[in-house]
Amino acid sequence: ITVLFGLTDFWNMERIMKIAVLGAAGGIGQPLSLLLKMQLPAGSELALYDPAPMTRGVAVDLSHIPTRVKVSGYAGSDPSAALAGADIVLLAAGIARKPGMERSDLFKFNAGIIVDLVQHCARVCPQALVAIITNPVNSMVPIAAEVLRKAGVYDPRRLFGLTSLDVVRAESFALDVESVTNHEVTIPVVGGHSGVTIVPLFSQLSRGQYDADELTSLIARVQGAGTEVVEAKAGAGSATLAMAYAALRFCLSLVRAKLGEANVREYAFVEGGHADAKFFSQPIVLGAEGVAQVLDYQPVHPVEQAAIARMLPVLNKEIQQGIDYARHVLQD
Ligand code: NAD
Repeated sequence: ITVLFGLTDFWNMERIMKIAVLGAAGGIGQPLSLLLKMQLPAGSELALYDPAPMTRGVAVDLSHIPTRVKVSGYAGSDPSAALAGADIVLLAAGIARKPGMERSDLFKFNAGIIVDLVQHCARVCPQALVAIITNPVNSMVPIAAEVLRKAGVYDPRRLFGLTSLDVVRAESFALDVESVTNHEVTIPVVGGHSGVTIVPLFSQLSRGQYDADELTSLIARVQGAGTEVVEAKAGAGSATLAMAYAALRFCLSLVRAKLGEANVREYAFVEGGHADAKFFSQPIVLGAEGVAQVLDYQPVHPVEQAAIARMLPVLNKEIQQGIDYARHVLQD
């Protein structure tokens, strides 16, 4: 009888949040879905979509983990069922880097995927918070913004480029530094998510006292971390596991903010927070509607300031490339 009541409770429980993962059968999508199944609040719903036929199987597999998160999986060419009623969409669809490739080399493969999926989001779940993992993030987010704008549903507060992997990496590298003894450390990473556009601000680590050379090498280490993984995986893909963790962390922050928690802080590539670039990754405060506030990231060390100044033309070029592509495709 207890078991029956338990089941009844479960099925009658009001759904508190629906998360859709697009690209759910991929290298990031699968571990991300696993982490979400384990860590989303009870009563959440997790909808997986990927054209790969195995996607329903991934959902069935995850559904055998005993948490009160309901999982469904959808394959084929239409993501609408996964998106219906979604509060949060995590978009990790598209191809990843192989050795020798820059993130920008993925543009021609992934841009069309973003247009198609975001058009579906605009139609099916226009109020959802959409977080883009697909690379090159610096161009894919502007494309998504243009698609949403064309559909008449763009709200910059609800669109994010996921740069939290850079933050996670910076935190991880900080743990190698003697003066840091716990993993509660937070290191702002600003700019964008490709090569030189990634600028970690290690000078803001409270216990770190770095000279210019140390800051230069720490910046280079975070900037090169993705390529380090791509080369070590030797053609079998790019970062997937630390990325899944970073996306989980970001998604749980969105969930907490949507459920009413105040002052949830994150880092993401968003529109409207910077004087010198239309989109910029910086600290943000999240609220129920998405970005509640974009925060300043000062003070920065002169070495970091120089790195930001140097990368701005690259960042702006990648942003413009996305806007131009979208306007061309959408015939604006
Ligand atoms: P992957 O190739 O392992 O998986 C991608 C998945 O996308 C595949 O399962 C594929 O079937 C699916 N897919 C293809 N077209 C689709 C569509 N139209 N709709 C839905 N799904 C579709 O790649 P991955 O390693 O999971 O990487 C995914 C993306 O994330 C890549 O673009 C990669 O560069 C990017 N990435 C971003 C970060 C970041 O920090 N933002 C870090 C690592 C990787």
